[in-house]
Amino acid sequence: MSLSIEARLKLAVEQLTEAGSESPHIDAAVLLCHVLDKPRSYLLTWPEKMLEEAQLTAFDAVMARRLTGEPVAYIVGEREFWSLPLKVAPHTLIPRPDTERLVELALDKIPAGACSVLDLGTGTGAIALAIASERRDVSVTGIDLRPEAAALATENGTNLHLGNARFLSGSWYSPLQTEARFAVIVSNPPYIDEADPHLSQGDVRFEPKSALVADDNGLADIRIISEQGRQHLQAGGWLLMEHGFEQGEAVRTILLELGYHQVTTAQDYAGLDRVTLGCWQG
Ligand code: GLN
Repeated sequence: MSLSIEARLKLAVEQLTEAGSESPHIDAAVLLCHVLDKPRSYLLTWPEKMLEEAQLTAFDAVMARRLTGEPVAYIVGEREFWSLPLKVAPHTLIPRPDTERLVELALDKIPAGACSVLDLGTGTGAIALAIASERRDVSVTGIDLRPEAAALATENGTNLHLGNARFLSGSWYSPLQTEARFAVIVSNPPYIDEADPHLSQGDVRFEPKSALVADDNGLADIRIISEQGRQHLQAGGWLLMEHGFEQGEAVRTILLELGYHQVTTAQDYAGLDRVTLGCWQG
């Protein structure tokens, strides 16, 4: 069957809507651009252009994956974060727009002049690379438990020519020298409780549990990062962590009990509690 760009997109939107996608138009357009290796503007400029047999077959294949619920970012292998194109893979969390809020808040706390920043659980390197791109004078270290993630983040940094970011693999602070100190530590750690029904919906089903789920109502990793952060922050340094929208008070309590100062929670773009930060006075 021969179909135009416009006709195949229309059909794809119907198929995706029926399969329960929340963003059928964007999904269809991103997948078709991926198959055609063209920018989004191409679809709008050439709606009547007939698709070739091979293009239709390739599009059917990616659509079949999307129709089973597989995230678009894993199918195309890329997601934009902070306007930076990043490679993503199934062993990394897909960067979320709300995490850009964490980047904004971190940039606000990074002092003027050369200094060091740490990103724990870096995944694709999204947060580390966003900071490195805004502050070329800052040296950013990203750490991920999974060596494949650290390797992917390194590749993303190389592709973006961000020589001021380096990536290590290991559990939280373990790859660091004991005396390593940072002006700012950021993290988007796992923070979802294992029993949260959200885990069986949408893209999250395909993402690594190790990047999403934490013990102790989702607070276990936040607690470790906060406790050990005290040994790795400079005097006056800041710790900023993303968390669930209902965890603000619990995270503030953890930070206050550990002796952090100026502890506050900031909201994401939907107005929900999302990032808690505290200052370590040393
Ligand atoms: N915000 C993500 C979600 O709820 C989870 C990210 C994380 O666990 N760090 O889908």
